Amino acid sequence: MSEGPRIQQVETILVDLPTIRPHQLAMTTMHRQTLMIVRLHMSDGLVGTGEGTTIGGLAYGPESPEGMKLAIDTYFAPILLASDPNRVARTMATIATSVQGNHFAKSAVETALLDALGQRVGLPISELLGGRQHDRLPVAWTLASGDTGRDIEEAEEMLARRRHNIFKLKIGKGDPAANVAHVAAIKRALGHRASVRVDINQAWSEATASAMLPALAAAGVELIEQPVALRNLGALARLARQTPVAIMADEALNGPETAFAIASQAGADVFALKIEQSGGLFAAAKVAAIAEAAGIGLYGGTMLEGGIGTAASAHLFSTIGKLEWGTELFGPLLLTEEILETPLDYADFGLAVPTAPGLGVTLSETQLNRFRRDRAEASLHVLPRAKTGS
Ligand SMILES: [Mg+2]
Repeated sequence: MSEGPRIQQVETILVDLPTIRPHQLAMTTMHRQTLMIVRLHMSDGLVGTGEGTTIGGLAYGPESPEGMKLAIDTYFAPILLASDPNRVARTMATIATSVQGNHFAKSAVETALLDALGQRVGLPISELLGGRQHDRLPVAWTLASGDTGRDIEEAEEMLARRRHNIFKLKIGKGDPAANVAHVAAIKRALGHRASVRVDINQAWSEATASAMLPALAAAGVELIEQPVALRNLGALARLARQTPVAIMADEALNGPETAFAIASQAGADVFALKIEQSGGLFAAAKVAAIAEAAGIGLYGGTMLEGGIGTAASAHLFSTIGKLEWGTELFGPLLLTEEILETPLDYADFGLAVPTAPGLGVTLSETQLNRFRRDRAEASLHVLPRAKTGS
């Protein structure tokens, strides 16, 4: 064994947090968000924190917070306990030999390793990844009430508060023509003061998308996200060629391999870059490199992460020179409860990239204890639980 620090305990916690309003997507409507928090307790006293979060449990993709916890407790933990936590890439490569897929869980664990390493060497994660090129990142807001008047009111309020001037509408659910009219009315009301974009979340057929795109273009919509099913890369490419509006791949992107598959057939104008979907910060950086090489634009995406996952994403996105389409790192703003000691800084239409070592943010123990799913169960246990090391 080397002289360096070791991981002594792998802790995973499910945290259930209420959302400020129902968040409607094509596949589900969210009323709460569950964060899977992983903490790596190290022999030198440092604790690395990471987060795995999904959209609507298993409604959006093949991983859930509960599944991530199980995978980390059972399969990642023994590897982590035997690893050198300073060698993050090697540790993740060792995990990859024993764990297929599980991109979200890998992203959470890699984040925790980078957080601890950053604290140890006194540098923020962005500097470990090559260095921050932006101090603030533009942040879009999703208007998802489904009601045109209420959405316009919400957008006006965000503009007045200078919190957001980019708005995304989830229009995969319901009648396509009615939804396009809803978007057009919002864009008319906001005019040049805001960028309006839509996310179909795979809900349309190629024929429906083909029929709807001209109206979206005429309405002044700037970006159309994942109009068709994630596996239908051919349709995405044809739509990208057909319409003057930029087409963005989101669900279709699942790490560097799918990024290359899309880029090699000029299958999208923009990539929604996501650390969890990519399989971690290193993998997302590779997706960004493929986009840059192919002349594809970049947008910093979210899985509606809380403060930890959002900070991790911000660190990576801040290292990308040309983040032409901004980001949608608004996850913490969708939650009614703050789980960080000091909230992330949202102002002037952007998010400040944390600059303290590691993630540069700290979980609030009080809030964690208040909202952890096992709190009731924990308080019922009178006998000390056996130490399992995970
Ligand atoms: Mg999307």
